[in-house]
Amino acid sequence: MRRLAGIGVSPGVVSGRAVILIQRAQVLRYQIAPARVEHEVARLEQSRGRSREQLTDIGSRVARRRGPELAALFDAQLLMLDDPMLVPRAAEIVRGQRVNAEWAVQQVFDEFSAVFDEVADPYLRERKGDVADLVGRMKMNLRQGVSTPRDLLRELDESSVLIADELTPSLAAQVDWTKVRGFATDAGSRTYHTAILARSLEVPAVVGLHNASQIVQPGQLVVVDGTGSEIILDPDAETLERATHHGEDRRPAAAADADRRRPAITADGLRIRLDANIEFPDDLAAARYAGAEGIGLYRSEFLLAAAVSGASGVPGTEDAADEDEQYEVYRGMLEGMAPGSVTVRTFDVDEDQLASRSARTALGGGWVADEQRGSRQGLRGLRLSLTRPELFQVQLRALLRAARHGRLRIMFPFVSGVEQLRQARQMVADAAAELTRRGEVVPRVPIGVMIEIPAAAYTADLLAREVDFFTIGTNDLIQYCLAVDRADERVSALYEPLHPAILRMIVMVRRAASRQRIPVSLCGEMASDPALLTLLVGLGLTEFSMTPGAIAVAKQVLAEVRSDDMRALARRVLRLPTVDEIEHELLAALGRLTLTGE
Ligand code: PEP
Ligand code: MG
Repeated sequence: MRRLAGIGVSPGVVSGRAVILIQRAQVLRYQIAPARVEHEVARLEQSRGRSREQLTDIGSRVARRRGPELAALFDAQLLMLDDPMLVPRAAEIVRGQRVNAEWAVQQVFDEFSAVFDEVADPYLRERKGDVADLVGRMKMNLRQGVSTPRDLLRELDESSVLIADELTPSLAAQVDWTKVRGFATDAGSRTYHTAILARSLEVPAVVGLHNASQIVQPGQLVVVDGTGSEIILDPDAETLERATHHGEDRRPAAAADADRRRPAITADGLRIRLDANIEFPDDLAAARYAGAEGIGLYRSEFLLAAAVSGASGVPGTEDAADEDEQYEVYRGMLEGMAPGSVTVRTFDVDEDQLASRSARTALGGGWVADEQRGSRQGLRGLRLSLTRPELFQVQLRALLRAARHGRLRIMFPFVSGVEQLRQARQMVADAAAELTRRGEVVPRVPIGVMIEIPAAAYTADLLAREVDFFTIGTNDLIQYCLAVDRADERVSALYEPLHPAILRMIVMVRRAASRQRIPVSLCGEMASDPALLTLLVGLGLTEFSMTPGAIAVAKQVLAEVRSDDMRALARRVLRLPTVDEIEHELLAALGRLTLTGE
């Protein structure tokens, strides 16, 4: 038995088998059942196969464009793919330690790194970069179908406890808390976020454990004692008994049906609208289940696929589902969500994604991960749609046809100014005219824009005159405003939603919208962080769209705060010069709520 001391942030004592999440490296480490070993080994092989295909593909493209020398780099990676120290070694780890394939690949990389760090030859040392690249590709391909840690977290057996380096609210929102009985994190800094979450979820939690995610082994029996501020590894019978006793008392984390359906309202009666962000039509059920009032963001680009390759017969549209197919998807969504509204964001892809193999298999669930994308500042979103009228017209016609089956709103992504908006509106008018020629009745559909480029925020007053609604996309707004690539780990610490510039922009956009009397919502990840959500309410926002899993917690937290308190907090916060001071002020305001558990 070993005890690790931390800070208890949510009371209660539970026990379970440890699942380790290394959020920074995006890997999850857990013990697999003996029957699953060969399945994990097969996943390694599939990932190798996909990696080989991609590298061959890239190699020949590079050879054509840049010559054979550069392409040789990829040959080296192809050779490494067959190195016995890679896949066979990872398979050995899977079998020997009964761990998941992702973790085995990560361990192989650590072994490789240790060897490379020893060698004196700078040329050889540089090869570590190649291995890192290859291992990154293997991990990305392992994610295909299963995808990120969040999907893995859904697969867990009953009675686990989650031990993580840190647990961000957006990831926590994806965890099936009926299976994960408690959690513990190394990080203790952003205590208030984690604390609010833990308390709202009613799961015991301990934070500030420093290196628990390295000490605890996957599958190890662990007691999380949120009351006693510690976790206990390999507990004795008596400790376990105490945990079991407590665990039974715990109310089930899943909220009752009626709870989920009740509207979001603050303690002083301010009504808040909570919609869901979804990527796939199938997510609609999750959105409804979570109690979303509507779909605030449907990322329609996930529809781009070759399942219907070339079906439209129009050159340049071979990656897109054809008009009828898209119409059926949109119609299903509108009917499924009725009487709630559905905001469909037109395709937000860049050229690489449109051309890539992964984009073409998107209907099957694959996708180019953000960190694998090419430039995020290139021909993307509405800019790309405007240069591909054939693709855009198909989508717009399908949308306008579907509109009569529910409450549709069309939203354009990545807009940087009024010119683009006007061109896009003209395209909508063209699509409507074409449908009218065909004898269809086209209803009026509200048209809105995402405010996610600083230029759009600064011209929000001008844009507001020409649209029906705004949706603030803080994921991109933060990265472009602060010049911090959201997928680049090296600068992730600078990716700061609480930066004064971000808060001011949000206020600016909210004001522009209210002057023009158009609705404004916010659909970035920021909204699924309960602490940030309360501040956003203080900044005057009353409509949000978030990942479905975050809705229940958001409702709970909103019910515990007063909007007038939050407005006073926002006024104080807007005068503060640094992120630290802002965080501190927010923490102090929420302190009573989070730390005393009132
Ligand atoms: C955003 O940018 O905030 C957003 C919601 O869009 P995405 O994450 O799809 O870029
Ligand atoms: Mg965006």
